[in-house]
Amino acid sequence: MSKGIPKRSEDYSLWYNEIIKRADLAENSGVRGCMVIKPYGFGIWEAMRDQLDRMFKQTGHVNAYFPLFIPKSYLSKEASHVEGFAKECAVVTHYRLKNAEDGSGVIVDPEAKLEEELIVRPTSETVIWSTYKNWIQSYRDLPLLINQWANVVRWEMRTRLFLRTAEFLWQEGHTAHATSQEAIAETRQMLDVYARFAEEWMALPVIRGVKSESERFAGAVDTYCIEALMQDGKALQAGTSHFLGQNFAKAFDVKFATKEGGLDLVWGTSWGVSTRLIGALIMAHSDDQGLVLPPRLAPLQVVIVPIYKGEEQLAAISEKVAEIKQALLARGISVRYDDRDTERPGFKFAEWELKGVPVRLALGQRDLQNGTIEVARRDTGEKQSMAADDNLASAIEALLADIQQSIYEKALAFRQENTHVVNSWDEFTQVLEEKGGFLLAHWDGTAETEEKIKEQTKATIRCIPLPGQLEGTQEEGACVLTGKPSRQRVVFARAY
Ligand code: AMP
Repeated sequence: MSKGIPKRSEDYSLWYNEIIKRADLAENSGVRGCMVIKPYGFGIWEAMRDQLDRMFKQTGHVNAYFPLFIPKSYLSKEASHVEGFAKECAVVTHYRLKNAEDGSGVIVDPEAKLEEELIVRPTSETVIWSTYKNWIQSYRDLPLLINQWANVVRWEMRTRLFLRTAEFLWQEGHTAHATSQEAIAETRQMLDVYARFAEEWMALPVIRGVKSESERFAGAVDTYCIEALMQDGKALQAGTSHFLGQNFAKAFDVKFATKEGGLDLVWGTSWGVSTRLIGALIMAHSDDQGLVLPPRLAPLQVVIVPIYKGEEQLAAISEKVAEIKQALLARGISVRYDDRDTERPGFKFAEWELKGVPVRLALGQRDLQNGTIEVARRDTGEKQSMAADDNLASAIEALLADIQQSIYEKALAFRQENTHVVNSWDEFTQVLEEKGGFLLAHWDGTAETEEKIKEQTKATIRCIPLPGQLEGTQEEGACVLTGKPSRQRVVFARAY
């Protein structure tokens, strides 16, 4: 049943947009590149946010909030930071409008020009480190482990719903430490938190690695990332964790009195994930019938549809459903009884399938008589009849856990099938064209070669995988393009 959604194999990009539209996740707004996140899409974000927030707090972080506007002079203080973000900054120059004298409407009041222009934050390192200067005096003030949930603006030229928007929602962690080792450990810890979230909650296998210099965050010493593979064989950067060294402490003169009585610059980290993760979720798991959601992030985990003729049957079914619903809710499973009398069961089935609700229960007159219920799982489409007794809720709970695991395993198998070791330039280009996916190839470590490869193939280095991430990547070899020595294989792919 295609219901008019283009197949992934026909037009992946159109399929993606149609899924978002038909599942009611988001839509484009009147402002180019800015999206409206609709309640169902926002429900996914809330589930992500709640879990990430728990994980941040479990690792000792607290939330705070900093201003949306950054004085231009702050942004300019860290040279490579401003250089990296300059091209995508929205700038506020005035604070008032007025009626045009010729009656043509409202215009910017030239009298109301700001003394100093304000940048709408593309990221908050500068405003936060300007604040940390006042908060940090001594080693007793460290570490400072703060996260912010916020929106940011990056004036992206090529946008795509969720994956790359001009305004997006995210969290940004900003921590300050007394030593380099401690800051690096924090950077790695948060990378692990992201990877664990991706794998255990999003059911999305990721590779943990380090970015090459050209892909590094502007102002960071090292950028760590998690990289995921989408169903069209393209990569998506799903999260980043930056070791900032003392760069922002230098720029904002943030020093602390050490235990030993000296004065030192503070070490920093920052790390973020955004609403892009919703795009990753869609692109990694969904199918030609619609959204497929991992149960742990589904706004609605179970839907119950009654199959009936007449009020009397409906009343009897509804009574049984109330019991089932209660038992599911008691286990913390979210459930909706879809007893709308304006739609037929077939329509409801298709709608919930499109919306990716992991489990659908259907209860009819025959089931009531037999003490059974029809249970359908969204990920495989399999249906079975279960006993509608006291064990049902625990059976559904187990089924949800099984779906979560199956979706992960399916995505992992897909990644394994689409990860290719390549050893020559011919092989590199051929595999990239014919198969796509992750290419594990040797690289001579220079930005020049990386750029040449990008120019010729549009493939970029997604990451230099950390030890233990991918088998066989830690061996030495010769660069696929130049033949020069390479310390290890890196991950190349075309990316979003
Ligand atoms: P960064 O601050 O550049 O390291 O980005 C932090 C996080 O935000 C990463 O997980 C990115 O994938 C994500 N991100 C960056 N730019 C965008 C964008 N335009 N739209 C959505 N997410 C983004």
